[in-house]
Amino acid sequence: TAVGDVAATDVDTHCPYCALQCGMTLRVGSGALPEVVERAFPVNRGALCGKGRTSAEVLSGAVRLSEPLVRDADGQLRAASWQEALDRVAEGLLRARARHGRDAVAVFGGGGLTNEKAYALGKFARVALRTSQIDYNGRFCMSSAAMAQNRAFGLDRGLPFPLADVARTGCVILVGSNLADTMPPALRWLTELKENGGTLIVVDPRRTRTAEQADLHLQPRPGTDLALALGLLHLVVTEGRLDEEFIASRTSGWEETLPGVMAHWPELVERITGVPVPQLRRAVAMFCDAPESIVLTARGPEQQSKGTDTVGAWINLCLATGRAGRPLSGYGCLTGQGNGQGGREHGQKADQLPGYRKLDDPAARAYVAGVWGVDPQDLPGPGRSAYELLDALGRDIKALLVMGSNPVVSAPRAGHVTERLAALDFLAVCDVVLSETAQLADVVLPVTQWAEETGTTTNLEGRVILRRKAIDPPAGVRSDLEVISGLAARLGWENSFPADPEEVFTELRQASAGGPADYSGITYDRIAASDGVFWPCPAPETEPGSDTATGAGPGTEPAAGAETAEDGTPRLFLQRFATPDGRARFAPVEHRPAAEEPSAEYPYYLTTGRVLAQYQSGAQTRRVRELNDAAPGPFVQLHPRLAEKLGVADGDRLAVTSRRGRAVAPARVSAAIRPDTVFMPFHWPGEGRANTLTNPALDPASRMPEFKVCAVRVERA
Ligand code: SF4
Repeated sequence: TAVGDVAATDVDTHCPYCALQCGMTLRVGSGALPEVVERAFPVNRGALCGKGRTSAEVLSGAVRLSEPLVRDADGQLRAASWQEALDRVAEGLLRARARHGRDAVAVFGGGGLTNEKAYALGKFARVALRTSQIDYNGRFCMSSAAMAQNRAFGLDRGLPFPLADVARTGCVILVGSNLADTMPPALRWLTELKENGGTLIVVDPRRTRTAEQADLHLQPRPGTDLALALGLLHLVVTEGRLDEEFIASRTSGWEETLPGVMAHWPELVERITGVPVPQLRRAVAMFCDAPESIVLTARGPEQQSKGTDTVGAWINLCLATGRAGRPLSGYGCLTGQGNGQGGREHGQKADQLPGYRKLDDPAARAYVAGVWGVDPQDLPGPGRSAYELLDALGRDIKALLVMGSNPVVSAPRAGHVTERLAALDFLAVCDVVLSETAQLADVVLPVTQWAEETGTTTNLEGRVILRRKAIDPPAGVRSDLEVISGLAARLGWENSFPADPEEVFTELRQASAGGPADYSGITYDRIAASDGVFWPCPAPETEPGSDTATGAGPGTEPAAGAETAEDGTPRLFLQRFATPDGRARFAPVEHRPAAEEPSAEYPYYLTTGRVLAQYQSGAQTRRVRELNDAAPGPFVQLHPRLAEKLGVADGDRLAVTSRRGRAVAPARVSAAIRPDTVFMPFHWPGEGRANTLTNPALDPASRMPEFKVCAVRVERA
């Protein structure tokens, strides 16, 4: 069957949702929608969760935009031609720039955009708009872990080893991840770990479906993961479990770190975290008795105003016990969004250029400016982080282009962010559906999605994969790359922004060459010939069959002791870390309270997260009937003791109030949560919007907001 430009009935591709990027096959037949068929792929081994299984539903014309919309003088959105819509966007951006200066125009990207789109969007902002104001929603996802890994290892790749290693190690500590709900096929690796005789420790204030699988569940107060890690490391020291040889030969900074560790003795840590000392001792025994061990963190410890230090504390535990830079041992971050890894490597982040280069590095600026054919002096400097950018809307920033994000639902202090969006002189949104953010826009541009376009993403392992076009998009829809190309042409950059994904990827490879995330040796053909290619993968050294693929690329130290492989660099740091001296760096960290602790007026913790059947802001999954039936709306999970104290029963409407606003949702009474904490999923807009409540207090290093802990009052609505 000839389908679009792909001559195949079955098209191998990947799920459009989370960072696991499960492999799947789209079977394109005579039906209105392609059929999703499971296929073997290393991370999911044929399994798909309900979101992936139903992902073709989002391609349906019934749920999506099919023509551009522009807002008329009467305030209503009406259909428009692409010519008119793109002209309106270009005018809106140029008018703001002419009146208020280049940094009055901003761009907000997304961690679900393909590598090609993330690259093109960053280049568009810095070259065509010449604004410093670009960031993306990945800042809200794993930026603390990225910062902590860069600080400790000199390089940030979510997992520095393939996910399959989790099943072959001896002990895994999973901190703040409910992967049984967020990426269910990954749970099988943990099941296999236990079948192989390994042990699983889960750290989570809630007894989630993941925690139920654990040999040991530590249930700390929200916001105390850092103290917990320090307490475990204290016991490692006092019980003689340090790996002195590893500390001496492969790390630096232990002497500066030790005092903070010794200040967190077990009884103090029990008081801070609520985790009993015997459980701390048992965790240390399980972790250290195993010949190899792995620590994995996710949003729980990362989405805190001390997220970078918290992740740093868990990395310290790995380093002090010699559980890093060795096969089957190490630290890794379970990135959340579909292209959460690639999305932070190619230049849509406020402080970065393609190849994961730093925007304030003169050599990096000169190199990338050369690829882009501009003067390095013309490249703007680092701009505001995501929340700071949103907070400046309608004030310093007058016009905004949003691509692949729905901050009305997903940003912290979402009521305030919604007000800021409404205060803009001009807002343009590219999306596949009329999201809550698109509903505020002056121009809405309907764009193609995963199965209708080709592009690469980089999964949580640093594995670069290819999503292939399987079907043609609806007639009235264009790709994000075509949008960028069309806007750039209107801004005077006629031939500098190609719309063809492979052409963009070729330029991305060149721009990344020599950077920490070097893609220069990766081609579409090479990905297609294997199960993806792990970066770093420099061009000259990594032709298939080469045995010299060791580098993070020209101009840098050789690749962090990477293993060599035809499929790039699956494992990092085996001989040396990517720091200038090759040593991993301890982080001297100390516990500090959350930005907002419970008080008489707001006596409980609120923590937020995801549920099995919904994804992120729900813009796509709320439109899939099976998923919506399974998870139709928000709820407030609370402990039976708290429910009794408040006099509420399951299903009663609860009002949850923080210093930023009020949300209302039905009670879900469950002993799976601490009595001092309530939980709300954040996928929905409206009165049950959890992010109305969340605290935008920022981590000073990563600028990550504190989604995971704030103080609330709970009462009957
Ligand atoms: Fe796999 Fe994640 Fe898609 Fe589920 S949502 S099928 S876990 S990639």
